[in-house]
Amino acid sequence: MFGGDYLYFLKHNLGSRLLGWRQPLLAGLKVTHHCNLHCRGCPFWKKDGSAITLPQAQGAMRQLHEDGVRLLILEGGEPFLWRDGEHTLVDIVAEAKNLFFCVGITTNGTLPLESQADILWVSIDGLRENHNYNRGPIFDKVIANIEASSHPKLLANITINRRNWQEIPELVKFLAPKVKGITIQFYYPYEGTEDLFLPFPERRKVLDQLIALKKEGYPVSDSVTALEALKDNSWLCHPWLIASVEPDGTITHGCYLRNRAQISCANCGFAAHAEVSLAYDWDWEAIKVGGEIFGFR
Ligand code: SF4
Repeated sequence: MFGGDYLYFLKHNLGSRLLGWRQPLLAGLKVTHHCNLHCRGCPFWKKDGSAITLPQAQGAMRQLHEDGVRLLILEGGEPFLWRDGEHTLVDIVAEAKNLFFCVGITTNGTLPLESQADILWVSIDGLRENHNYNRGPIFDKVIANIEASSHPKLLANITINRRNWQEIPELVKFLAPKVKGITIQFYYPYEGTEDLFLPFPERRKVLDQLIALKKEGYPVSDSVTALEALKDNSWLCHPWLIASVEPDGTITHGCYLRNRAQISCANCGFAAHAEVSLAYDWDWEAIKVGGEIFGFR
């Protein structure tokens, strides 16, 4: 029942606890800052539009693997736009699959949703009006691409903010028949877009609604433990479990915000960090959710 992936994580956990290892397990590799959208809440398209080269990506992936990482998420900008000469994201995915247990891609969903990556995560910011308010008039295109995709593990990731929080139950019900799972996070108040940050009383209400939907059988992928912990950010964060790669090839260990924005744990809404930290602390539901999402063997 528990194969090599679980054994690796067990070894990593014991090494960290008993020997003080501080090795990341999960990394996000930003292949480019370039994007075909200019979303209101995103700080990355405003950067220099640089993109990693294939040799830089290969070197970074080898280094991540050596550092301990076994779960890799390719991000952007819009990762499907990445090019290096004749090379496309297909080449990075192929190399990544030789190194990591699981390779995922986060995408805005405007381009065809086909890939050999193990997971495709499509960002959704609300029903049509709110999604289009943040991202431009693309909602119908994204939903059509989701429906046309043959990918076996296509998930939606909803970033909950001050504008969309009241429609989250309706959005979950709308997406449920179209995707294999739905993950959430709360909008982080990046400089200049703090108005999208959802205050905690409203956050708690929407978390209760998500927990109820999950119990009813809707495909909310996050664990109840993580959803509960996000109500007051009560999980013990282990940010060293995470690593990030910038489009210039620089590798950073630690919180996703490190070297990108002011870190305020009080305002954190990164459910993935909560989930990874809870799993490290032997929360069985978080471990189960990690196993299901990443397909541990
Ligand atoms: S901001 Fe969130 S993810 Fe980053 S260190 Fe704080 S609690 Fe962890």
